[in-house]
Amino acid sequence: TVTLDMGWNFDNSYARLPHTFYTQIHPTPSLSPSLIVLNVPLALSLGLDEKVLHGTEGLAVLAGNEIPVGGLPLAQAYAGHQFGIFKMLGDGRAHLLGEQITPLGERFDIQLKGSGITPYSRHLDGRAALGPMLREYIISEAMFALGIPTTRSLAVVTTGESIQRDTELTGAILTRVAVSHLRIATFQYAAHFGSHTDLRTLADYTLARHFPEIGEQENRYLRLLQEVFKRQALLIAKWQLVGFTHGVMSTDNVSISGITMDYGPCAFLDVYDPSALFSTRDTEGRYAFGKQPEIARWNLARLAEAFLPLFDVSEAQGAHLVEAALSDFSALYQRTWLSGMRAKLGIYNEELEDDALVKGLLDLMEKHRADYTNTFRALSLDQPVDTGLSDIPEFTQWHELWQARLGRQKPSRSAAHQLMRSSNPAVIPRNHRVEEALAAAMHGDYSVMERLLDALANPYAYRPEQVEYATLPTVCSVPYRTFCGT
Ligand code: AMP
Ligand code: MG
Ligand code: MG
Repeated sequence: TVTLDMGWNFDNSYARLPHTFYTQIHPTPSLSPSLIVLNVPLALSLGLDEKVLHGTEGLAVLAGNEIPVGGLPLAQAYAGHQFGIFKMLGDGRAHLLGEQITPLGERFDIQLKGSGITPYSRHLDGRAALGPMLREYIISEAMFALGIPTTRSLAVVTTGESIQRDTELTGAILTRVAVSHLRIATFQYAAHFGSHTDLRTLADYTLARHFPEIGEQENRYLRLLQEVFKRQALLIAKWQLVGFTHGVMSTDNVSISGITMDYGPCAFLDVYDPSALFSTRDTEGRYAFGKQPEIARWNLARLAEAFLPLFDVSEAQGAHLVEAALSDFSALYQRTWLSGMRAKLGIYNEELEDDALVKGLLDLMEKHRADYTNTFRALSLDQPVDTGLSDIPEFTQWHELWQARLGRQKPSRSAAHQLMRSSNPAVIPRNHRVEEALAAAMHGDYSVMERLLDALANPYAYRPEQVEYATLPTVCSVPYRTFCGT
C-alpha cells in the first residue's frame, strides 16, 4: 500500500461484518495496464481527481496494482441459485477496494472486476476480457441515463495480458461503483453457512446501510424484506417498460438495494418478443424477457426462505407472511408497470380498459415483429409508425381507440406528447450498435464507443443527431446471443 491522494476517502464497513462474509485478499497485479475509458462525471461526483486518475497513480489503482490509502481489498462470500441450482459462489474475479464516501456524504462500493483469483474462483481464472467489460460499461451507463437504478462504471483498463477463452482475448478490469453489492445470495449464504447471529448481523447491517428509515421497529426484519420486495417490483417494472433483458437473473445477481447488477448476457429488445432470450447458457428460456417478473418473484421467495429464521413466528405464520409479501410484490409490479405504460402512451388518468389498450398494442407488436422502442418513439413524435404496423388495419383500429382515449382526459395533446417523450427513450443501446463499438475497440479504435456513449447519455433528448442510433439492424436469421462469464 502506498499513500495515494487522488480524493480517495474510504471506509470499510463491510469488512467490519463477521469474517465469514469475506476474504481479505489483494487483486493480482496487472503486467502492463493501460486506460481504455474513464467516466469523468462519475469520478467527479465521487470526489476523485480526474487528472490523477488519468495518470500513472490512477492507472495503478484501476489495474489492481496499488491499493489507495484507507482501502481494504476483499472478496465477498455468497451462495445462491444459478439456473435454479443452489451453489457456493462468492467474488471469483472481483475485489472490493473499499467504500468511497463522496463529498455529499454518500457511500459507494468501489469494486474491481477481472482483478484476479480469490478463494471463491473455483476452477476459473479470475480474469475478464475487454469486450464484456466494455459491454458492461456501455450498458450500465445507458441504464443510469435511462433513470434505472444500477451499478455504474468508473473505468475499464486492459491488463496487458491475454486470457484464454475459446480464443485468446485481451484481459481487462472494470471498476464498478455500487450503493452496495449486497445480494439475495449474500443472505442465502448467511442462512446456509452462517450462524443465527451472522444472519441477524447481516440484516442489521443492511437496514443501517440501505433502509435507515425502518429503524429499530420490533418487526424490522419483516419490514426489511417487504422493502426489498418493493424495490425489486419497481426495478423489474422499469426493465420491462424499456425492453431490457438481464439475461442471468440468478440470485447472486439480484441486489438487495434494488439496483440492476452483474451485467452479463443482457440486451435490449429490438422487436417486441416476450420470449426473447440472449444468453447462450439459457437453453430453457428461464430468463427470457417476458419471464423476468415471474423469475424475480421466484428469487424473492428464496430470499424470504433465508429470512424466515429472523421472524419470531411459527412455520405456518412465517409461510403466511411470505405469501402475503409475494402477492404484494406481484400487485405492486403490475400497478407500476401499467402506470409506466400509461405514461408511454401519454395517458395521465386511469380507466379500467387501459390494461386492454396496452395489451392490444403489445400483441400487435409481437404478432408483426415491430420494433419496441421505435414504435413508442414514433407515437411520441406523432409521426407515422414506421415499424411495419402502419399498413395493418388492426393497428389503425388500435390507433383510433388510443386517440379516443387521449380525448377522454383533461391534459392537452401536447401535454400527452410531452409525457410520452419523457417516458419513451429515443435511443437505447441496440445490440448491433454495441457490437459495432466493441468490434472497433478490439482494433484499438475507441471513437465508435465514445460516440455511442454520448448518444446514450441523453436517451430522452430526441436530438436530431441521435437519429442514426434509432436505425434497426439489418434482418439477420441468426438470433442475437451474448456470452457471459468471459
Ligand atoms: P456470474 O455468472 O457473472 O454472475 O458469475 C457467477 C460466479 O462465477 C461468481 O461467483 C463469479 O465471481 C464467478 N466467475 C465468473 N467468471 C469467473 C472467472 N473468470 N474467474 C473466476 N470466477 C468467475
Ligand atoms: Mg454474479
Ligand atoms: Mg458476473
